[in-house]
Amino acid sequence: MGIVPEDRHQALRFQRVLMAAVAYLLWIGVSAYLFWLELIVIPAWVMGCYYLGMIATNLFFLVLIRTGFNLRLRDPSMTLIQILIAVAWAMVLVGAAEAAARGVLLLLFFSAFFFGVFRLTTVDFLGLTVYACLLYGGLIFMQSPRLSPEELRLEIVQLVVVAVVLLWMSFMGGYVATLRARLREATRRDDLTGAHNRRAITRDLEQALGEVAGEGKTLSVVLLDIDHFKSINDQYGHMVGDEILREFVERIQQHLRGEDFMADLAANADSGFGRFGGEEFLVVLPGTDAAGARRCGERLRDAVARSPFVTEGGKRIPVTVSAGVAERRPGEDLVGLLGRADRALYASKQNGRDQVSVHEWETAASP
Ligand code: GH3
Ligand code: MG
Ligand code: MG
Repeated sequence: MGIVPEDRHQALRFQRVLMAAVAYLLWIGVSAYLFWLELIVIPAWVMGCYYLGMIATNLFFLVLIRTGFNLRLRDPSMTLIQILIAVAWAMVLVGAAEAAARGVLLLLFFSAFFFGVFRLTTVDFLGLTVYACLLYGGLIFMQSPRLSPEELRLEIVQLVVVAVVLLWMSFMGGYVATLRARLREATRRDDLTGAHNRRAITRDLEQALGEVAGEGKTLSVVLLDIDHFKSINDQYGHMVGDEILREFVERIQQHLRGEDFMADLAANADSGFGRFGGEEFLVVLPGTDAAGARRCGERLRDAVARSPFVTEGGKRIPVTVSAGVAERRPGEDLVGLLGRADRALYASKQNGRDQVSVHEWETAASP
């Protein structure tokens, strides 16, 4: 078992804490330099304790991620709390510095804020700005008795500049985070139908497989393939084919939302459903056995066949879909499961289309 978590998301979070640790190392280097120049005048052992504290902070977050504790939090990336703590550490170093060196150390705030650029909202950033300014204002207030009037004036100017720049960063940071979220969503969507694309549905399936394996639950997939789609294209043209694909997705999504037994899907309208290829679609049903998945497949098949598709030009085109169902076998991976669903789909096609077939375990066991 390695140090870096196996789960992709957790590995990324682990890596981000390591990146933060590098930033802390830079802070340690800069402050040690100021200490050497006697621009930070505190006992060496106190400085040593600060450094140990910073290192311990990073180790603490690494342990939280490694043990998976962070997954119980509302935001498993723990970005906000990491920045809150980093700003507090930056303030400790700023507080230790002589007035002459303080302005330059305030730059540490910005490096801490930058950490949140890809994740936090403008409101988060504004909260952080208020927090940083209160800390710095409090520090000025506490140290004011031993500051000269010029030093005090300079501190207040620095506070104002920090507040203005952090405010600006709040809006820019929030904007970048919004763009990132949109970009992420765009990489998960299929342009034509708006359904999740192959990459997204494959990742959903991978993740669901990992989760059910850990919890000892079952999982099934339904692979859908529109019947004689090539003929629809040939007869009515590609544009009409595209329209059919869009309405197909709408019908399936409407239907999936209405299902009671698919709590996971209902909670997140279309996760667990995506366009797997041209006219092939995949439904992932965590916690559902083959019988449940067959029922789901039957309802989806019926939702398509029940009434003809109506194009924008007013054409009424009957469409049918064939489905292949497979329930995960213990220890089976994504490729094996999809391979069996594909064989079931092939059986549906062979037996006349517009039907659902299940790849039974017994069948699979036989040669
Ligand atoms: P079967 O019942 O055996 O599945 O027959 P089929 O004609 O549906 O299967 P085939 O795999 O031969 O053809 C699939 C067709 O889907 C061929 C391809 O041109 C069409 N197709 C794939 N992607 C798109 C798309 O984005 N838009 C349109 N209009 N057609 C597409
Ligand atoms: Mg087809
Ligand atoms: Mg096909």
